Amino acid sequence: MNPMEARILDEFRTVVDGRGLISSSEELKTYECDGLTNFRVQPRAVLLPTCTEQVQAIIRICHRERIPFVARGSGTGLSGGALPIESGIVIGLARMNRILEVDFPNARVVVEPGVINLDVTGRVAPQEYFYAPDPSSQSICSIGGNVAENSGGAHCLKYGFTTTHVLGLEVILPDGSLIHLGSKTLDTPGYDLAGVFVGSEGTLGVATKIILRIVKRPECVRTLLAAFPSTNEAGAAVSGIIAAGMLPAAIEMMDNLSIQAAEAAVHPNYPNCGGLLLVELDGPVAEVETLMADVSEICRSSGASEIRVAKSDAERALVWKGRKSAFAAMGRISSNYIVQDGVIPRTALPRVLSEIELLSKKAGLRVANVFHAASPAGSLRCANFGPGGSRGSTIRQNSRIVHCGGRLDHRRARRGRRQKESDVENVCGARSGNHAAGSLRFRSAAACESHESVPHSAPVRRENR
Ligand SMILES: Cc1cc2nc3c(=O)[nH]c(=O)nc-3n(C[C@H](O)[C@H](O)[C@H](O)COP(=O)(O)OP(=O)(O)OC[C@H]3O[C@@H](n4cnc5c(N)ncnc54)[C@H](O)[C@@H]3O)c2cc1C
Repeated sequence: MNPMEARILDEFRTVVDGRGLISSSEELKTYECDGLTNFRVQPRAVLLPTCTEQVQAIIRICHRERIPFVARGSGTGLSGGALPIESGIVIGLARMNRILEVDFPNARVVVEPGVINLDVTGRVAPQEYFYAPDPSSQSICSIGGNVAENSGGAHCLKYGFTTTHVLGLEVILPDGSLIHLGSKTLDTPGYDLAGVFVGSEGTLGVATKIILRIVKRPECVRTLLAAFPSTNEAGAAVSGIIAAGMLPAAIEMMDNLSIQAAEAAVHPNYPNCGGLLLVELDGPVAEVETLMADVSEICRSSGASEIRVAKSDAERALVWKGRKSAFAAMGRISSNYIVQDGVIPRTALPRVLSEIELLSKKAGLRVANVFHAASPAGSLRCANFGPGGSRGSTIRQNSRIVHCGGRLDHRRARRGRRQKESDVENVCGARSGNHAAGSLRFRSAAACESHESVPHSAPVRRENR
């Protein structure tokens, strides 16, 4: 370590009271990647501040010494957002995990960024409120990470993504200045800069306080499972439900391979079928009962062979546990797989799914599909498996390395994957779903003119880090 580094580390140590500085190589290993585990970079140090003032002091030093920094919540991101920069530092927000204020009359909660998503609902549930954005990782991911990724989950069909629920932010900018964006009230005058910050993947600054909107729990919630011979019939039922003017709280679809994975992992007792729909309706009891009958009828006329409604809260929770575990559960059916998050218009789902099936057969790769089936632009998550499940090897895709089965024919996998990406883009979607404000999404946007992404995000990232 040269004297300059030692001096700076000492200064950092003073800021975080010694206990919040990690600099030994063994301990730094925890922080060298996020959920995109094929990219690993060991940072020079990790700092774990406990308050806004410490974050500000750290960033001021970084600005003065031109040290790159990356914010980190729980490290569950799938797009390398929290990947450290060599010679840079990681600012881990996990210790800033206090719920600072709960304001029931105005349905607002103020949190520090390291608060875990599910803990917000846990805190307000006794008063019949909940925090609506529900990424499948909600039991471990942080609100700060959710804000940076504009995370969403099954219930965002009705309730909207994180951006709908973030009203205000306290942010430390890359030069160390502190700003406030938005406020507790809706529609603060001026530009919606809080809206710009949400989804910017840490490229604009570090959020140190977040004002969230919470939602009153509906009188009644019902979850229906409908089993179809294939995803085609299930897709027709989704179109039927939306065409009938209904807005369910969630509509999720899983194909047979996803069902197998979920069953192996958490035993949700799903019907064994080619395409499974989970439809959740919430609202006043009378409305939900009527709409549930309509949904059942649409599913039946679209070819459903079995329709079930969860009978208890415990059964409903198990149904959702299966769906939310599906992605992580892929490890139960193959030790190596590639995840591809795509966004496509709802109406293009049948075409894209048929294409994926054709490509899967042609390339000899199993593909599992699990997705939010009815968002205006459906979010399609596919996992490709190699024919073998042995040790991993790597293939390069854009500038990212992704893992696949060791016995996989790399050229074939690469071709299949590129073909799938271009198919997704040809129907005016985007190859990255709810992740990657950086280069991946940037490149997608350039390739698909009608995509609504943020084409300047890659330069923003370079400038700020
Ligand atoms: C099994 C699994 C399931 C998942 N399911 C979903 C899903 O359904 N929907 C979904 O959207 N995502 C999902 N994800 C991805 C991930 O959980 C989300 O993107 C989540 O919001 C990341 O939160 P985090 O706290 O782990 O953030 P991290 O991974 O630590 O960081 C993510 C990004 O946020 C930035 N960041 C973190 N904190 C701050 C802050 N305070 N200020 C500014 N920038 C910050 C980081 O720099 C990074 O760019 C899933 C991941 C896994 C592993």
